[in-house]
Amino acid sequence: MQPFTYTKATSAGDAVRAVLDGGPGTRFLAGGTTLYDLMKLNVEMPTRIVDLTGIKELRSIDTSGRDELLFGALACMSDVAADPRLVGGYPALSEALWRAASQQLRNMATVGGNLLQRTRCAYFRFGEPFPCNKRKPGSGCAAIGGIDRGHALLGGSEACIAVYPSDWAIALAAFDAKIDVLGPNGERTIALEHLHREPGTTPHLETTLEPSELILRIRVPATRMGRASTYHKIRDRESYAFALASAAVALDMDGDRVRAARIAIGGLATRPWRVPAAEQALAGKTLDQRAAREAGNIALKGAQPGLHNAFRIELGARTVAAALMIAKQRV
Ligand code: SF4
Repeated sequence: MQPFTYTKATSAGDAVRAVLDGGPGTRFLAGGTTLYDLMKLNVEMPTRIVDLTGIKELRSIDTSGRDELLFGALACMSDVAADPRLVGGYPALSEALWRAASQQLRNMATVGGNLLQRTRCAYFRFGEPFPCNKRKPGSGCAAIGGIDRGHALLGGSEACIAVYPSDWAIALAAFDAKIDVLGPNGERTIALEHLHREPGTTPHLETTLEPSELILRIRVPATRMGRASTYHKIRDRESYAFALASAAVALDMDGDRVRAARIAIGGLATRPWRVPAAEQALAGKTLDQRAAREAGNIALKGAQPGLHNAFRIELGARTVAAALMIAKQRV
């Protein structure tokens, strides 16, 4: 690990200034569960670290509002997952957090940092001799034509097919969440669906944030669709594993008939993947196994398999269908 300098910020403004002063090698430190990992692998090699953990105002959770739920960026995953209003009124949000990582990691990791976690692509993480455009722009992509069982089927490019790993972001995408960020020119708000980029020709650019911008809070509009929701995650083992396929689903029902549906899929794409075509296909229909499966097929439309991951098209469609039937039971 290369040497770095360390600064502990006392306010959000202080943190942004410290990153501006430190230059391009500076990184924010929140829970550290991604950054430390990647520093040990020499994938991240910061010259300066700005520790955010002393900024108390970014730890708050407020789910009491009529119009929106507020989560400070430094609230830890386990506290948010256990929030009673989430557990009862927005189970998809709570489940997306509970089904991520391990209890120890959820106690450390923050809900803001979770959105910025980096891909699990082994070629990215383990470095030389594998080419990786995300780690070293222009070097190539070892996953294309390589072992791609866990790689993306949606949103990939000729430069990168890495899966976006967060569960929480998938559930937030289904609920039209917004992110407030602070940068050198003040605060701005970004819709979660505009936070992450598809890789295109620049897979090293993963978000639309400027390097010195800090996530302050996540805001979720309150909705009666929260209750009939779920985050359904399929993985190789039932704990401490990333999704092979996942779906966050929320429903507004009139008896057996769907008034409105929200569907976002995870584990299959290069960014959180909302599927409006599948949502529209369900509107006005009776939700039964057949309609659910049809929505699953639509959600996976356009999926491009590589050498070892074609089975995840069927798995993805089944995951969406199963999530819809689980959510229906919660109306
Ligand atoms: Fe790197 Fe992306 Fe290719 Fe993985 S898929 S090796 S992260 S360029």
